[in-house]
Amino acid sequence: MKRRFGISLPEELVEKIDDLSKHLGISRSELIQDILMEAIEDRTHLMTHHTCRGILVVVSQRESGERVSKVLEKYSDCLITRTHHHAGESCVEIGLVEGDSGIILKMESELRKLKGVGEKYLPFWCVR
Ligand SMILES: [Zn+2]
Repeated sequence: MKRRFGISLPEELVEKIDDLSKHLGISRSELIQDILMEAIEDRTHLMTHHTCRGILVVVSQRESGERVSKVLEKYSDCLITRTHHHAGESCVEIGLVEGDSGIILKMESELRKLKGVGEKYLPFWCVR
C-alpha cells in the first residue's frame, strides 16, 4: 500500500529531481522513493548493533586537519589503517575501519560536528 502526502521543495530541487528521473527513465515517485530508502539506510545502518567494516573518507580544510586528527586518534582502536593526502587546499584522510557499530557512529558524529569538514563512511562488510 502506498500513501500520498504533500511536501514542499525548492523549485531548483524539483527541477533536479525531474532531470534525474528523466535521465534514469523512472518516475519522480520512484526516484524519490529510492533516494529516501538509501538515506534512511545510511542514517540507520550503524544504529543496529553489529561489527562493521568499511572505508572512512574525511575531507577538511587544511586548518581543520589537526582537529580531524584528534578525533581519529581517539578512535584509533577501530582504524586498521589511515592515510593522509593533500588535494589542493584540502586534507583528505582515508581510513579502513573495523569495529563496533556504536563506536563508529560516535566517531562519525564527532567528525560531523567539526566546521569545514565533510565525511562519508561506506560500510562494505558487516557481521551481525
Ligand atoms: Zn555495518
